[in-house]
This record gives sequence, structure tokens and C-alpha cells, in this order.
Amino acid sequence: MAEPASKVRPCNGLRLLQFEKDGVCRVGVEAAPNGDIVDVTRIDSSIPTDMVAFLEAGEAALDAAAAAVATGEGVLGRDSVKIRAPLFRPEKVICVGMNYVDHCTEQNMPVPVEPVIFSKFASAIVDPNADVELPPETEELDFEVELAFVIGRGGRRIQEEDAMSHVAGFTVAHDVSARDWQLRKNGGQWLIGKTFDTFCPIGPSIVPPSALSDVHNLGIRCRLNGETVQDSNTNQLVHKTQACISFISKFITLKPGDLILTGTPPGVGCFRKPPLWLKKGDVVECEIDEIGCIRNLIV
Ligand code: ZN
Repeated sequence: MAEPASKVRPCNGLRLLQFEKDGVCRVGVEAAPNGDIVDVTRIDSSIPTDMVAFLEAGEAALDAAAAAVATGEGVLGRDSVKIRAPLFRPEKVICVGMNYVDHCTEQNMPVPVEPVIFSKFASAIVDPNADVELPPETEELDFEVELAFVIGRGGRRIQEEDAMSHVAGFTVAHDVSARDWQLRKNGGQWLIGKTFDTFCPIGPSIVPPSALSDVHNLGIRCRLNGETVQDSNTNQLVHKTQACISFISKFITLKPGDLILTGTPPGVGCFRKPPLWLKKGDVVECEIDEIGCIRNLIV
């Protein structure tokens, strides 16, 4: 649905990220997908160096970052910096389950009428190329590639037609899951199985809707040791971005920086026969067209 221009908050088209150089982490702008980094906070010291603070600063920070990029200065080679998670310590990490038509089919489950909501803790967030721990407490470690979005402008009871103007942008998330803890232990509560330390790699950047052809029509896939294990399209999403925002914000005030994972397509290890569990030394790559790829070694 088209939105009135006055309500669109396109993040000035900037692909926002966090990077580390000389031991300091700060906000930057990705010049192009997988491209060089513009060190905007060095050009304009008024720009917050932390992404959540940057998003809280709203239009002023976005305008300052766009002006910094326009100077053409402060360009750093991507190889000269470490790409960090695009944000740490959001107030909330909210997840949507059973949100791909083809993933429901794989489980012989009906497509949910309302979004199925659960959560991870922000402490699970790690860098896009971080190692993921295989803890001794689980024997059923599983992969889930997901489209995630970051709230730019907060709100309560946000209407679907306004929802996209509350989105700072989209990123790739890996909803690492310990199925034994998610599904059988801990009284059936999913929480622990979803939120061990390192269970939420995200990144590399936060890509605004205006920089994407159509966020709800992008190829999404996961590769395990180079072999494709999940391969779908965000057009299979049951509850799209706007519907998720409208539903969640009925109950919970969304804040700048809140991270929402929108669910995984089919192909996860637990529904395979026999099941396919992650083991030490595995490399998992989660990729969404036009957004990026994250790569995690299981240790
Ligand atoms: Zn998930």
C-alpha cells in the first residue's frame, strides 16, 4: 500500500551499520551492498556513535549522516574495519514464529491467523561474522535464517498503513535455536532454547525500505558448509512487516532500536528426516538478496 510522502521515513536511503576501528565501535554508512564504509561520526562529531542512540536521535542524526556522506570524505576500505552487529542492547528483541506459508506446510501446521510472538534477550546479539557457541547443554542446535527489521520511530497502536514509516531498515538475522530446550525442556517455554549467548547474529547493515526493490519479494536462503539448506522468498511471509508492527504495538510500545525477527522459511534441521543438527566446525551462512550475508562458525 502506498503511503503519503509526509509519513515515509526512508532513513535517507542510508545503509547504516556499526564498525570497529582502532578498538572503537561506532556508527557508519555502507556505501553500497558489501561496499566501503563512510565514517560519518568522524566527519560530524554530533552524530551518535551507538546505533540505538543514533536511532533515538531521529531525523537530526539521519540528516547529519546524509550530509556527512555527501562530503565524499571519511571513506574506509571495508577490509580495514571490523563489521560489528548493526546494533547492540535494543530494548527489545521480538520474534515471530510460524510466519512462512511454506514453513507451516513443512510442519503440517495451519497458517496462524495472528502472528505468533516470542522473544530473545538482547544479550544473545553478536556480530555478523561471530562464532556461535554449541553449548554442552544442548544436543539439538538448529539454524534459522530470518528477515529482521529495526524500529526507527517508536509508537503504540501503530496502524498498518503507517507502519513502514516506523521502520529504520531491514537486516539479516540468524535465529539460532536449541530445539531440545525450545520444544521439550523448561516446561514448554521457548525462551531458553532461543536465547543462549551468541544465539542472535545479525547484520551486516540496516537497509532502509527505500534502498530495497521490495522487501516482501526477496530471495532468502541459508547455506550449511556451502550447501543450500533453506531457500525461499520473503513473498512467503504470512504476516508482513506492517502487520507485525500493527499487532505487536497493540500490546507493547515499540522503541527506536527494537529488533523484530520475522520468522524462518522451511528447511530447518529439526523437521528433516533424519534431523540435521549443527556441530562444531560447521559454517552457517544466512543471506537475503539486496540486504546482505552473515556467516557464523559453530564452535
Ligand atoms: Zn525463528
